[in-house]
Amino acid sequence: MKLLNGQRSLLYTKRKKKVCFFMYDVIIIGGGPSGLMASIAAAMNGQKVLLIEKGKKLGKKLVISGGGRCNVTNRLPLEEIVKNIPGNGRFLYSPFSVFNNDDIINFFEGLGVPLKEEDHGRMFPVSDRAQDVAEAMFNEMDRLNVTVMLQSPVKKLLMDDERITGVRLETGEEFTAIAVVVAVGGKAVPQTGSTGDGYPWAERAGHTVTELYPTEVPVLSKEPFIQSRELQGLALRGAAVSVLKKNGKPIITHEMDMLFTHFGISGPAVLRCSQYVVKELKKNGGMPVTMRINSLPHLNAESAFQELHAMMKAEPKKSVKNVWRSVTQERWLLFLMERADIDPQAIGAELPAEKVRALAREITGFEMVVHGTQSIEKAFVTGGGVSIKEIEPKTMASRKKAGLYFCGEILDIHGYTGGYNITSALVTGNVAGRSAAAFSKEV
Ligand SMILES: Cc1cc2nc3c(=O)[nH]c(=O)nc-3n(C[C@H](O)[C@H](O)[C@H](O)COP(=O)(O)OP(=O)(O)OC[C@H]3O[C@@H](n4cnc5c(N)ncnc54)[C@H](O)[C@@H]3O)c2cc1C
Repeated sequence: MKLLNGQRSLLYTKRKKKVCFFMYDVIIIGGGPSGLMASIAAAMNGQKVLLIEKGKKLGKKLVISGGGRCNVTNRLPLEEIVKNIPGNGRFLYSPFSVFNNDDIINFFEGLGVPLKEEDHGRMFPVSDRAQDVAEAMFNEMDRLNVTVMLQSPVKKLLMDDERITGVRLETGEEFTAIAVVVAVGGKAVPQTGSTGDGYPWAERAGHTVTELYPTEVPVLSKEPFIQSRELQGLALRGAAVSVLKKNGKPIITHEMDMLFTHFGISGPAVLRCSQYVVKELKKNGGMPVTMRINSLPHLNAESAFQELHAMMKAEPKKSVKNVWRSVTQERWLLFLMERADIDPQAIGAELPAEKVRALAREITGFEMVVHGTQSIEKAFVTGGGVSIKEIEPKTMASRKKAGLYFCGEILDIHGYTGGYNITSALVTGNVAGRSAAAFSKEV
């Protein structure tokens, strides 16, 4: 990569003046997956590209993604991908027609990063190293002569009434460009550089920013069994976790693993449910929300009762704790037996059917009250953002200001965990980069 920083400080000392001018075809702000991809797509189209990043390194969030392995995309069919992007996934049909998940796979394999498929279509580098994904992009930017400035926070977008004209850094330096791509991410995990800087810029350019909220975030509960930490660390495999409306009807159910923690619940099923908790809390004025856990989702209360009862009858002289040990994890079973007022040492012959029914209800419909989620800073993904209604989906161009483009998590698009957010960042980044390049050629 061509780094500009050295050159910049030279200019400072010689001229002792803060303002200097560079002319680029396309400036990309932000070195996350969307900005890196946008710079590559713009440079591939033959344009002179400058990428400006405020941190010391590019791709800080990318290299910690997927637990350091980077779940870079997902191999499911497009309709499934869209279903897994509950925050405006349908908007992506248009960008997908230009660059989609298969193109992402081909792109990385073409750069020498073979990918492998894991459960639910999730794609990872064979090396299990997110760093390899990031470095492949850096090398490609190098090959395409993208100029990179590090440690250079952008302060504002420069624009006139009709069009974008460039950017101003916090130092006061200004860089002019025909097109500017804003790829500064959302507000989740600000230590990686995503501190929400782009929202006021978008508003100044005439865009609407929809309300921001945490998504894919652990859920908080004050239930006594959470406060006492007695279930801390317990993971339930393939549980059906639901968020309930006031009337007890489920708003959403996700069947995946979940985890009890010292502050509440987490794990994939809970992360997916979390945005519905946030919305329901808002809707009911902050009153606690009920969640339901069916730890045996192939059964309901009646069929679970029949199964428990049949097991008990088959071994009437054995303690129920031992008879039912194969039903679910011992720690969970003992906890639920206590709630159903069942002595674990009781033998099947002595146990009233009503207590077995109570246990069956707990196993298939355990309810707990939650009162919130962790903050947006601790979330995996930002909900809300630059309204997609004001973005041209085929190009990612602003409908408010000529020459302005948006991509990645700054947009009001958010997916579940599973590779959907990096997919959205790379797809919108590619489309924004190539469109910005095309625009800069026309002007
Ligand atoms: C811990 C964690 C793990 C994740 N794992 C996965 C995963 O495996 N798969 C998946 O699909 N999604 C994952 N995600 C979500 C995914 O990483 C993000 O959605 C994605 O990184 C968003 O890309 P982006 O380019 O829009 O923004 P970001 O990655 O947030 O990058 C924005 C960049 O802009 C820079 N910037 C910000 N403000 C300025 C400014 N004023 N001037 C210059 N530069 C600026 C930032 O420093 C940053 O480098 C994960 C998220 C987290 C927090």
